[in-house]
Amino acid sequence: MKKQKLLEIHNLTQHYGDFIALNNISFSIEKGTIIGLLGKNGAGKTTLMKTILGLLCQYDGEIKFKGKSINHGDPKIMRKISSLVDVRFYEDMSAYENLNYLLMADVKISKSNRRKKIDELLTLVGLENNSSSKVKSFSFGMKQRLALAQVFLHDAELIILDEPFVGLDPVGIEFMKSMLKQIQREKDATIIFSSHQLEEVSDLADEIVAISDGTIKYCGTLQELQNTNKKYNIWFVGKEMKIEIPYNSEILQRTIHEHLKKGIEISKIEVIENALYQLFI
Ligand code: ADP
Repeated sequence: MKKQKLLEIHNLTQHYGDFIALNNISFSIEKGTIIGLLGKNGAGKTTLMKTILGLLCQYDGEIKFKGKSINHGDPKIMRKISSLVDVRFYEDMSAYENLNYLLMADVKISKSNRRKKIDELLTLVGLENNSSSKVKSFSFGMKQRLALAQVFLHDAELIILDEPFVGLDPVGIEFMKSMLKQIQREKDATIIFSSHQLEEVSDLADEIVAISDGTIKYCGTLQELQNTNKKYNIWFVGKEMKIEIPYNSEILQRTIHEHLKKGIEISKIEVIENALYQLFI
């Protein structure tokens, strides 16, 4: 069954003054997928996320959410999108109070349900024993966990996370990854996260959007990317020269067959693979 397109970006261009930070970007995201936005610092990842979130409201092109042009001023729509971009807390308030403050605006939730939800979330992110501690006493990793609890507060359909792994230790990184996979599995949430580390992205993302200098360099699965990044080099008996063909078994067979027909023997076939990071430089 074809999945619903949750987010569509059409010809998106974003400027800071005369500087073009995003140049005619187009891609779409299916519901329930995790997308890794990959690119070196300054590539345009944060700008893209902020534009989707309406934090940079002037842009050219179109952003569609659930098939309709997004209206960033509509709170009903924006409640379905949650983000970890520039998250700030009230440092003198406890973890519980911070989440409660955000949830209080939601009149539909009773006080007891609010408490239940916050307790569940703090347990989910492993902060159940720090619920009444002031945020100013938290380590960076604990703040990231609280930020994640905040992101999950409203059962959003689209979750946008800017560099969620930065500053976390290896345990924190694994914890964050497993949380995101769990929320995808259990809630069919769609997640976009940015990173400049290929390993982080390849571990977690179903698909990659690689961005460089404000343009998209690649969009698809890591497997497809690895295949497009591979080539065969074919060497012939008694000849110095080699030929280069795409990494495709049909093309390989055809090439071998054609050369054998002409009486040209093959001495060596090698698979050449460029380092993936070279694609993003
Ligand atoms: P990334 O998140 O991939 O590191 P950004 O989206 O933050 O990249 O930045 C993309 C480009 O836009 C960079 O060249 C950056 O210097 C520039 N940029 C970002 N924010 C601003 C701003 N507020 N004013 C001017 N230029 C900016």
